[in-house]
Amino acid sequence: MTTTTTKTRRTAKATAKKTVTKKSTAAKTTKKTVEAIKTISNATFVDPNERFDISTEELKDSIVKHLHVTQGTDQNKANEKAWFNATAAAVNEIIFERVTKTQKTHFNKDTRAVHYLSLEFLMGRLLKNNMCNIGLMETAAAALTELGQDFHAVAEEEPDLALGNGGLGRLAACFIDSLATLQYPAIGYGIHYEHGLFNQTFQDGRQFERPDSWREYGNPWEICRPESVQEIPVYGYVETKYTDEGKVQKEWHPGRIIKGVPWDIPVVGYGATTVNVLRLWESRASDFFNWDVFNAGGYLDSQVENVQAETISKVLYPNDETDQGKELRLIQQYFFCACSIKDIVRRYKRAHGEDWSQFVEQVVVQLNDTHPVVAIPELMRILIDRAGMEWDQAWDICQGVFAYTNHTLLPEALEKWSVRLFEKVLPRHLEIIYEINSRFLNGICDQFFPGDDAIKSKLSIIQEGNEKMVRMGNLAVIGSFKVNGVAQVHSALVKSDLFPEFNEIWQDKFTNVTNGVTPRRWLKSCNPRLSNLISEYADKDWPVNQDKIRAIESLADNAKFQKRYMDIKHENKVDLAEVIKDLTGVEVDPTALFDIQIKRLHEYKRQQLNLIHIMALYRRLLQNPDYPMPKRVFIFGAKAAPGYYLAKEIIYAINKVADRINNDSRIKDKLKVVFLPNYRVSLAEKMIPAADVSEQISTAGKEASGTGNMKLALNGAITVGTLDGANIEIAEEAGEDNVVIFGLTVDEVKKAKADGYNPWDYYYGNEELKAVLDWFDTDYFTPGKPGELAAVKRSLLDDGDAYLCLADYESYSEAHKKVDVLFNDKKTWARMAIMNTARMAKFNSDRSIQDYVDNIWKLEAFSVVE
Ligand SMILES: *Cc1c(COP(=O)(O)O)cnc(C)c1O
Repeated sequence: MTTTTTKTRRTAKATAKKTVTKKSTAAKTTKKTVEAIKTISNATFVDPNERFDISTEELKDSIVKHLHVTQGTDQNKANEKAWFNATAAAVNEIIFERVTKTQKTHFNKDTRAVHYLSLEFLMGRLLKNNMCNIGLMETAAAALTELGQDFHAVAEEEPDLALGNGGLGRLAACFIDSLATLQYPAIGYGIHYEHGLFNQTFQDGRQFERPDSWREYGNPWEICRPESVQEIPVYGYVETKYTDEGKVQKEWHPGRIIKGVPWDIPVVGYGATTVNVLRLWESRASDFFNWDVFNAGGYLDSQVENVQAETISKVLYPNDETDQGKELRLIQQYFFCACSIKDIVRRYKRAHGEDWSQFVEQVVVQLNDTHPVVAIPELMRILIDRAGMEWDQAWDICQGVFAYTNHTLLPEALEKWSVRLFEKVLPRHLEIIYEINSRFLNGICDQFFPGDDAIKSKLSIIQEGNEKMVRMGNLAVIGSFKVNGVAQVHSALVKSDLFPEFNEIWQDKFTNVTNGVTPRRWLKSCNPRLSNLISEYADKDWPVNQDKIRAIESLADNAKFQKRYMDIKHENKVDLAEVIKDLTGVEVDPTALFDIQIKRLHEYKRQQLNLIHIMALYRRLLQNPDYPMPKRVFIFGAKAAPGYYLAKEIIYAINKVADRINNDSRIKDKLKVVFLPNYRVSLAEKMIPAADVSEQISTAGKEASGTGNMKLALNGAITVGTLDGANIEIAEEAGEDNVVIFGLTVDEVKKAKADGYNPWDYYYGNEELKAVLDWFDTDYFTPGKPGELAAVKRSLLDDGDAYLCLADYESYSEAHKKVDVLFNDKKTWARMAIMNTARMAKFNSDRSIQDYVDNIWKLEAFSVVE
């Protein structure tokens, strides 16, 4: 806050200071075992509520000051946006100071750091999260109330930072939160998209996309760092030269130079001891204005180059899982990797000059999927063409630095770029990739599989054919020292099905790190009622030691505790019912079972399976108004990639079916279906605390991990799920009595496919399923327009039902009958929900990060000097 406050804070906390001194000394000792690091991480826990002794009065003063100083308004004139900005500015006074301290500490100690490269960071809103992590949530609420404002309303003014599509981007956001909380030196690198993921609206049930403009009116969290601008070459040609000693030298003459401007967003760890940064690159034309052209009267011409350069960071690609082979996308990836690698090298050189011998010890780069894999040939280029290194030395460095996370087995999602495009955009990188490839094929690959051309062509980075392609997955595996999948079953499949030969060559390269989510955002801050209840029974450091929540396990059968737990669930449902009313106009009963499926819309995630089951329930109710089931509300949230035809048809079908059901008085409100528009992090935070059932129903073997499943279980939703991704581990942790598992297993799915799976067998074999599918051909849900929903049926029958919805239908339907019975038994249900909350510690992203640290990154935690 004010300088005086800061001073008071520094001297006041004697106990905190003692802890700090202890951990600083410990951090100095060089060779520490992993155990020791863990102990230090625990010892450094600082309760944020005791850390900053900022009074409500002081915070009020600071907010009012910022209304004047940074917003140019005052208490009487300010609108809610101004109140939000002023509150954020007040928080920033604390945060930015910690950023500087953190960076200074890391620089002075010359720490090894992880560089997390991700094309996506799905951050959501930051105000409440930052308040929560610095322990000022209650103070802020009180301060704003006393100023005549409502904290929640002010927080609602913040647009989501939606610089990602879904799980992969949200994982990156949880990871940087955990890295800061555990006090590891780390930086996230991404793109400063002007437009994040599109905003979704529905018109007559169909999805429409509107651009997202998260920083149209400025963003209080980011700081521009012009001192760290980078210049990035693209296009052009490569010249081969010879030195006097006859050595070959390559010189790339780029066709264009693009400027990369970094914007830093502080990443506040819980307790705010360490505040790392997320550095996002914005593209600009390298010379802002072409004055010659301008002076010659060509004002528009002079702008063309700017527009082209600025297009690179203009929009996030909205494709989830699949990728489209576009020149702009490749340039986007390269631009971002080149900026980040240059930044890493610049920082290293500041401490080590031209001495590269420490590089591998100081730097580890984690590649979040194949999107940033072009960073590998880029570092090779820098080392060979710029630093004058020999190939072998440069390759050793690269292999010591990069690690790659695989996120999917879907073949359509494994990135490939045409050689032709690569040659046009990155001619020097293509040469380097060819060299990496030939050394691999003639070297270690030939040793393992001598003369086996079939295997060689499978492992080659270059896919031969009419249109030669660069396989980024193969490049990632060859160029990294570790490759990890994101859940046990997924990592096993990466080894056995995706890269079996690579796994033979490098047995130690492949590993697993099961995903996790931060309990700060996904419990403490989004579900304050449940958090307060937990804090009554668990040690108050549960947000950083999640297994402490296990304390409530012994209360799972305690009637009083059950009541308090379920009352909280009810209050959260009342809140969500209001949101539902606001967004859709539909009134839902908060005593009904809230059944939630929230995730990107994709055939493999099987929202269509959920839909046909809802239609079956509707049909059962029409046939028998006394059909025994608790009142149910089915709630969806999902965006479809704008070019994904069937996904959009599924959204349309759900909306149309919802319309009909919600307005059918015959079923007496026993069934409601709502599709909330514009699913995003801030909406997830309102939906998850109110869920009774969590739908995790992907075809086994298709969902790498899932993280929505973890958030929902943590908040006491019962998983109805297949044995896929992290569901398997969630079931193990929660206990099989506390989840409802259905459907084919990975092996059964493989067998069904091998045996020539035929969906018609299931159609003719199940009277209800047939009736429901035939319903799609009528105009029952689209009056006067029969066949409007036929695309969904077609995909499930004529087109072969690639994701085996019909094979799993009966089992799914039975699972829900079981849910009905369980939900009616209030004691059993409460017990199950409590057990889920109590037992989710494994899925804390702190645990994921500690796994990365132990097995891949080998980092040391550092306490930031006060
Ligand atoms: C967690 C999250 C996801 C990922 O959900 P899955 O069910 O794991 O696919 C996607 N979008 C948002 C906004 C999320 O918060």
